[in-house]
Amino acid sequence: MSCTTQKSVPDLFASMVFNDGVMRERLPKDVYKSLRKTIDDGKDLDITVANAVANAMKDWAIEKGATHYTHWFQPMTGITAEKHDSFISPTADGRIIMEFSGKELIKGEPDASSFPSGGLRATFEARGYTAWDPTSYAFIKDHSLYIPTAFCSYGGEVLDKKTPLLRSMEALSAQAVRILRLFGDTTTKRVITTVGPEQEYFLVDKKLYDQRPDLIFTGRTLFGARAPKGQELEDHYFGAIKPRIGAFMKELDEELWKLGILAKTKHNEVAPAQHELAPIFTTTNVATDHNQIMMETMKNVALRHGLVCLLHEKPFAGVNGSGKHNNWSISTDTGKNLLEPGKLPHENAQFLLFLAAVIKGVDEYQDLLRISVASAGNDHRLGANEAPPAIISIFLGDELTAVLHAIETGTVYGGTLRVNMEIGVNVLPTFPKDTTDRNRTSPFAFTGNKFEFRSLGSQLNIACPNIMLNTIIAEELKQFADELEGKEDFNGALNELIRRVIKEHKRIIFNGDGYADAWKLEAEKRGLTNLRTTVDALPHYTDEKNVKLFSDHKIYTPIEMHSRQDIILETYSKTINIEALTATDMVKRDILPAVSAYVAELSNGVLTKKSISEDIPCQAELDIIKRLSGLQDCAYKKLATLDSAIIGVKEIGEDPIKVAAYYKDSVISAMTELRAVVDEMETLVSAEYWPYPSYGDLMFRV
Ligand code: ADP
Ligand code: MG
Repeated sequence: MSCTTQKSVPDLFASMVFNDGVMRERLPKDVYKSLRKTIDDGKDLDITVANAVANAMKDWAIEKGATHYTHWFQPMTGITAEKHDSFISPTADGRIIMEFSGKELIKGEPDASSFPSGGLRATFEARGYTAWDPTSYAFIKDHSLYIPTAFCSYGGEVLDKKTPLLRSMEALSAQAVRILRLFGDTTTKRVITTVGPEQEYFLVDKKLYDQRPDLIFTGRTLFGARAPKGQELEDHYFGAIKPRIGAFMKELDEELWKLGILAKTKHNEVAPAQHELAPIFTTTNVATDHNQIMMETMKNVALRHGLVCLLHEKPFAGVNGSGKHNNWSISTDTGKNLLEPGKLPHENAQFLLFLAAVIKGVDEYQDLLRISVASAGNDHRLGANEAPPAIISIFLGDELTAVLHAIETGTVYGGTLRVNMEIGVNVLPTFPKDTTDRNRTSPFAFTGNKFEFRSLGSQLNIACPNIMLNTIIAEELKQFADELEGKEDFNGALNELIRRVIKEHKRIIFNGDGYADAWKLEAEKRGLTNLRTTVDALPHYTDEKNVKLFSDHKIYTPIEMHSRQDIILETYSKTINIEALTATDMVKRDILPAVSAYVAELSNGVLTKKSISEDIPCQAELDIIKRLSGLQDCAYKKLATLDSAIIGVKEIGEDPIKVAAYYKDSVISAMTELRAVVDEMETLVSAEYWPYPSYGDLMFRV
């Protein structure tokens, strides 16, 4: 640790990354050129080139202290997976040399049988393979060379989140380039999407954490009476950072910088003990890798400070949970942001066309965007007035909305500058960027030159929402290109198309308060979907239009979609099951015995008092004994209900949708009822007897 702090930040940055600079320096010129071609144009890598790259990588890694390499991938577990092989290779004379071949670099063959596949592997070989994604640089962590890879089965079925993400980026690129050509751009070869994910998290003391089985097994508190203070004073958001937290954040930044992660902004968040880290945006697949590393590094660095990092979406009832804002944009290979309103008429027209694609796409595939953020944990947040509602809508801000209205109706836009909005002829009126970013209740907000998708839960692998976004926009751009290509009067056709899209899809635009009940009614009137929970949302994943979308763009086959749907639903059910088992265990083995012990102590006290004199008042004890005994009986009944609910799942059968629905309807409600009684008991039992650290301890003693 100490040596890293002595280096300057620029020296530290990416010091553990085999990036372009290192490649240029270490690879023979022709090898570097071919590798660059692979990275930039997606060309296949020749094996002799791969050998040369592998060798240079190995030498570099060994100099940095690495002894192993690993193909690092992102299976359907939501976290990352790795298996480490050392570079050692025996020689005839009984020694070893350090070796790493091109074949080992580009392809790995982990045993895939223990990763979730949603039944896919039943029909195919159990083995899978990992393939190097050269667009995401290799890096060194804990003495291993990490090679970012995509993970497939031998039949070619995707078993991970990276493969479809890369495919969706390709799909969008192909269609976006077609659009750019229509606007006279003959040079752009690829279009990429960029993402900057803002990551929220909680930090609690490790000693307190270790005393809470619910945190250990489920990542959230299943019980806990409210502390006298929560977030009502709004004193934590952007508040001064405590020294212990500051030390954690400093080390976290350094660790991330070493790995080339652009950690930029850190601050306290709304809830006590809640914080945020935002990186500078980068290409979507790299941002996805980096976000996974960021979450893992947060957990590891926290432990070094006697802390535990909670990434669960809702660690504590009564205060805000944690999300992740997915700032997303589209850009050319030369870095021109296509969601930035331009200064010239044709740039504006192009911006409006991309904007129209987003509006149409989000409206037509609201369900997919909702599905992409669905999880048991995130169900606690969406619609709970701390996160955007489960209803998907777009915030554009008043100015841009007025511009669109003027376009739709062919009227004059009466903003700061009165202009007639003929697309491709007039310049868009400039509108102040700042005013576009003040609505925090919208799930999908335009923030001047990017969209901020705010519905993500804090633990989510950002690949999922970005696969959806990229594919949806690819589809809309494809339709637009099909319509506009070869049109003689391009401007006329463009005007007509944009006008039509606004007319048909403006219902998705909502600039008001997303938390208000009135919005729910209004959204229903507009015909927008409101898929409140994971169980409501997931069945729509395989709706015909969605299957068609992903098949058309070759992201998923219908079989792969069904398997993914099953995996997500099964994960949901397993999560609730673990929570329910943890809850009953805590109540049976810790909570009820603690209450009994405390009641016994009070009762003995009463008996002792009475033995001294009948006159000593015991009303307080007697009241508490009575109330606690009543609550104990009540808890015992609720416990029995939960127990039988857990067992009852056996009657439901195999259908993952039905099983998940059962967990939602029967198990969650039984857990909620049990919790209410337990939390009330906590407020009556002596702190000395209560088996767990309180909410106050967890959130304020950091
Ligand atoms: P705020 O959300 O407070 O307005 P910023 O606008 O500075 O903050 O940025 C929030 C996040 O959006 C950062 O991670 C930033 O890197 C990212 N971001 C900025 N521009 C883009 C872009 N073109 N594409 C993707 N993400 C972007
Ligand atoms: Mg933000």
